[in-house]
Amino acid sequence: MYIAVFALSLLAQTNNYPTKFSPAIAQRPDVQKATAFVDANFESQQVPEWIRLTEIPAPSGKEEKRGAYVKAELEKLGYQTVTDSIGNLHARRKGTGKGPTLVFASHLDTVFPENTNVKVTRKPDGTLHAPGVGDNTIAVAGLLQAIRAMDAAKMQTTGDIIFLFSVQEEVGLKGMYAWFENNRKDTDLLVALDSNLGPVGYGALGIYWSRMKFTGPGAHTNRSKGAPNPVRAAAQCITDIYTVPIPDGDPMLGTVYNVGGMMSSGNIVNAVPQEVAFTVDLRTIDKSVMGQLDDAIVSKCDSAARAFGVTFQREWIQKSEPGGTPVQLEDRRKHPLVQTAIDVTKYVGVKLLPGKEAIASGSTDANVGVVAGIPSITVGRGNGAGGHTLTEWANIESARTGTKLILLLAASLTEN
Ligand SMILES: [Zn+2]
Repeated sequence: MYIAVFALSLLAQTNNYPTKFSPAIAQRPDVQKATAFVDANFESQQVPEWIRLTEIPAPSGKEEKRGAYVKAELEKLGYQTVTDSIGNLHARRKGTGKGPTLVFASHLDTVFPENTNVKVTRKPDGTLHAPGVGDNTIAVAGLLQAIRAMDAAKMQTTGDIIFLFSVQEEVGLKGMYAWFENNRKDTDLLVALDSNLGPVGYGALGIYWSRMKFTGPGAHTNRSKGAPNPVRAAAQCITDIYTVPIPDGDPMLGTVYNVGGMMSSGNIVNAVPQEVAFTVDLRTIDKSVMGQLDDAIVSKCDSAARAFGVTFQREWIQKSEPGGTPVQLEDRRKHPLVQTAIDVTKYVGVKLLPGKEAIASGSTDANVGVVAGIPSITVGRGNGAGGHTLTEWANIESARTGTKLILLLAASLTEN
């Protein structure tokens, strides 16, 4: 998924924020060696493996084959791996001392069903084309290669690093929620590798997906006059929902709702259906706004159901909580995690617009950490476009940059 464009422009002088990165870290011999490993093996190893991984189908909930590939590669490197009941896979790399434990998360799943053609095409303009090649296979391949580079260079970190390959990110961050339940205590810092190279995301866009269901006894058309009709209730409800105001003020707050992405009703002409349902997709970064809007939408449905004599029930499809507004998250912005990631992103050559280096939003595995109060960010893993479509593509060279970014984050963030 992607980070909504939401810039923290209140504090343009970002050099006031503490950072753990310095060019001296990048100049360390072990870090240099690891970076050189990435360069030396990029075309011969990383790109072919990226293609291979992309061609292993991994729909959310069916990531086993892709997970098994990653697990085997980690074990070849001598790591003990842990696979949990939902399918998340992780391994730990020991640090030398008592630095913070850093978790890198990259999700294994894609939004594409099993029978999708995931054959990769490499074009002369330096791009790879296939569903899932960017989101998020570029990160899976990049993280795997970063691990090899750290090991080949005997790179030392003060804190431990946990490499997490998560599942079911695309269906409400389910894998990450499950992993966090067991490993939260062990997580000091969380970095989700997702999205294009660019601003660092330190917030969480809340997303509520509901199915609004109206049911009644049904009736033949001949007996339908005055009969309870769930269609009329649903129609009234949808009309009423669109009278619920989105809080005015900052249009960048990113609050939005969308009704009817999916709708269903009866299947014959000459009857009042027994059941009508439609979906609502509600999004905001603001916790209180989320609660107010959700209550308002549900109460519109309740009233419409009462007015037309039918039953209303809300069913959850998925729910991920909002992290807070930039003002609410100002402490998070001050955490060195954010500025370190900005400095490293710039150091590897990614241009960031002044005042827009960090955004208080995101819809990645990092959201789970943000909401739990653990310093968590999303950083880019390479560039591409067309995510969640069959015409998805990614820029090959950007993966090299993304992998070096992982190495520098690993060296910097695990320091005390
Ligand atoms: Zn993603």
